[in-house]
Amino acid sequence: MTTNGYDRALAGDPEVAAILAAELERQRTTVQLIASENFTSPAVLAATASVLTNKYSEGYPGRRYYGGNVHADEVESLACERATTLFGAEHANVQPHSGASANLAAYLALVEPGETILAMRLDQGGHLTHGSPVSITGKTYRFVSYGVTPAADDGSGERIDLDLVRDLAHRERPRLVVAGTTAYSRVIDPRPFREIADEVGALFMFDAAHPAGLIAGGAHPSPVGIADVVTLTTHKTLRGPRGGAILCSGDRARAIDGAVFPGLQGGPLEHVVAAKAVAFSEAARPEFKQYAGQVVRNAAALAAALAAEGFRLVAGGTENHQVLVDLRTFDPELTGKAAQEVLDRAGITCNRNQIPDDPRSPFVTSGLRLGTPAETTAGMGEQEMAVVGSLLARVLRGRDDPTVVEDVREEVRDLCGAFDPYGAWSRSESPA
Ligand SMILES: *Cc1c(COP(=O)(O)O)cnc(C)c1O
Repeated sequence: MTTNGYDRALAGDPEVAAILAAELERQRTTVQLIASENFTSPAVLAATASVLTNKYSEGYPGRRYYGGNVHADEVESLACERATTLFGAEHANVQPHSGASANLAAYLALVEPGETILAMRLDQGGHLTHGSPVSITGKTYRFVSYGVTPAADDGSGERIDLDLVRDLAHRERPRLVVAGTTAYSRVIDPRPFREIADEVGALFMFDAAHPAGLIAGGAHPSPVGIADVVTLTTHKTLRGPRGGAILCSGDRARAIDGAVFPGLQGGPLEHVVAAKAVAFSEAARPEFKQYAGQVVRNAAALAAALAAEGFRLVAGGTENHQVLVDLRTFDPELTGKAAQEVLDRAGITCNRNQIPDDPRSPFVTSGLRLGTPAETTAGMGEQEMAVVGSLLARVLRGRDDPTVVEDVREEVRDLCGAFDPYGAWSRSESPA
């Protein structure tokens, strides 16, 4: 189906080769609106697939437990240097295997088991690692949670409730205050969190898993230098390989590094670290600034198209890369689960999501979360977002009519044909 280096290398394993080819085809022919996903560059893919996967590198550059780490040291030092330059941080740890590992390591470095952490509730837009009872974070620390303000007709509600954050901070005296969200469409200003943390003598962690790329590209305010620790993922808006990173000041470097290894992880994934180095360099280019701005403009265009179709937008719209849609004004019977499933059949990939104070369970939900990072990388602009918004509404309106779903599937295929993230790559013979 495609002709690239990986296909040739996998010729001896046609089963896996066929699955990977089918996944590439899926990514190229359906619209990717999952807010936490992106299309990495062929250079990032090439580094991820490199021979560094063979190397054991427990420890840090210059302080490894095994021999033969000269090149692992080079690549990890380069990744750290690029990360600190990109974000203006004093220290970077690029070893966390994921955003969840980065968060756990930060907690391990800053908070004793049983101590109190103040963070956003999962069903209001927070993340599992912000103290969900099913997460090790919720079992290890005492979490107290804030949420968003009530919905308002003029769209001014459903913002992080800073009065509540302050009240809870004063009442509960947390060791750590956490800002950061997984499903929230507004800018998060780190400064009020810093003030609140200072008022009660708490530390402040900013979980930038989602907006890391918007921050790197200058579209959102940076928490670096304001928060004590910033955690991030490298695969969401930052458009790198699947992984995490931690930024902090020099005086916390030892604690953070020790928490990542040996505190939490074993050997780092130096092939992924190499790919992170590539991604940090890509994110430092002027084109990435352009990209981050376009991601935000595209989300606004998608939001406007959906509002015109009768959907209620949580928080009244968007200032970042995501749009949270409340399906109930569009159709009170339509659940997030049913919407996600029929959209999947029409080639529009997104995820159901609880909206604040959702009457339905996290498995069913009344909302959808949509995001623009991936299709912006593929080259779509505001016009295409308007088209996507109307296709999405058409499917949901005609969800019981198979011809509507099929027609939209064809239109989606045509649209994606013009915005193919790996088109040039799969036409050429080499992955890099
Ligand atoms: C995605 C996310 C994480 C976790 O990232 P993984 O790489 O999936 O472990 C942590 N915090 C927030 C706010 C996130 O959105």
